[in-house]
Amino acid sequence: MGLAVIRINPNMTTPLSPEVLVPRLGEYLVQRGHISEADLKKALAYQQEQNNQGKRCLLGESLIALNLLDRRKLDHAVTEQIIQLRNALEDANRFLEQRVQERTAELQEALRKLSELSQMKANFVANVSHELRTPLTHVKGYLELLTTESLGALNEEQKNALQVSQRAAGRLESLIDNLILFSLAARGEMTLRLSPVNLNKVTTEIINYSRSKAADRNVDLHFNIPPNLPQVQADEEKISWAILQLLDNAIKFTPAGGKVTLSVLPETDTLVVITVTDTGIGIPADRIQEVFEPFHQLDASATRRYGGTGLGLALVRDIVTAHGSLVEVHSEEGKGSSFHFPLLVAGTANRITM
Ligand code: ADP
Repeated sequence: MGLAVIRINPNMTTPLSPEVLVPRLGEYLVQRGHISEADLKKALAYQQEQNNQGKRCLLGESLIALNLLDRRKLDHAVTEQIIQLRNALEDANRFLEQRVQERTAELQEALRKLSELSQMKANFVANVSHELRTPLTHVKGYLELLTTESLGALNEEQKNALQVSQRAAGRLESLIDNLILFSLAARGEMTLRLSPVNLNKVTTEIINYSRSKAADRNVDLHFNIPPNLPQVQADEEKISWAILQLLDNAIKFTPAGGKVTLSVLPETDTLVVITVTDTGIGIPADRIQEVFEPFHQLDASATRRYGGTGLGLALVRDIVTAHGSLVEVHSEEGKGSSFHFPLLVAGTANRITM
């Protein structure tokens, strides 16, 4: 049964009576045999006349004024209609509730399948990564024996070739480590070893590591890191990795001649904010959230200009979130990007009031 929408005109001068709550009262009275079609026409004409004179008049009142219906019958008909409307409303509510329950069940099932799939993916990634690590350990071990000339003297050419192989094995190792970290995070098994961390020391190591990369790409590297920063409560290894990842991306996505800045600044007594800003290619506004999705790369073309797996930012977000913080991005396409996140100063957790 369809429901009629009843609009009550706020300017109406007629006092509010139950009749205003029911639609198409005239038709209903004719159907029930309380009045004839002719009576209805007369009453409608009378109502029109009254309205034309500026006197707002409802149909039921017109019928009473013309002695075509008595008040008792009118009240009875209005009450009947209100009960019918209420029943229809209850039916509609029941139907809606049932639909909501059905849809919720469907969504729960879809969600269950999705998390099963994602669990399978994480398990697969974890298994493959562990399988890859074992042979790589052998490769690295023998490379080490060769480069240290434990297995015989080497000429310059051989030394160079081995150095290239060692660097490649190092890259492979860090890729496998990232995959393992990703699968741990995806299974909710990332654990943090929290302790007071000296960000001055951590960033010095990161800077030393990033300088050559920036120089190779002719990108200017700047730092805004005051001495004697307060220590933060963090997992040193993971936070260093996250900062390095942001810096790597900033250098990678900034064309030659551009600038990348790492700032580590106390914001309040309890927070230190880490910011990596670049003057690179930027991220389109509608794709900002996408960059945190695992395996998502904005330039997914076959001729990808930038290397990488699309796991870096997903892991940065997981690590920062595991610290109870949040990574924020501001970016403008063609102008550059800025990624930042705060960390709690060590020993202040209990002082924070929400
Ligand atoms: P990867 O760098 O391995 O592709 P990430 O997860 O680190 O993976 O980044 C995902 C995507 O986000 C990148 O492929 C790139 O499209 C975009 N992105 C990340 N950092 C920046 C940046 N500083 N400037 C522009 N785009 C970026």
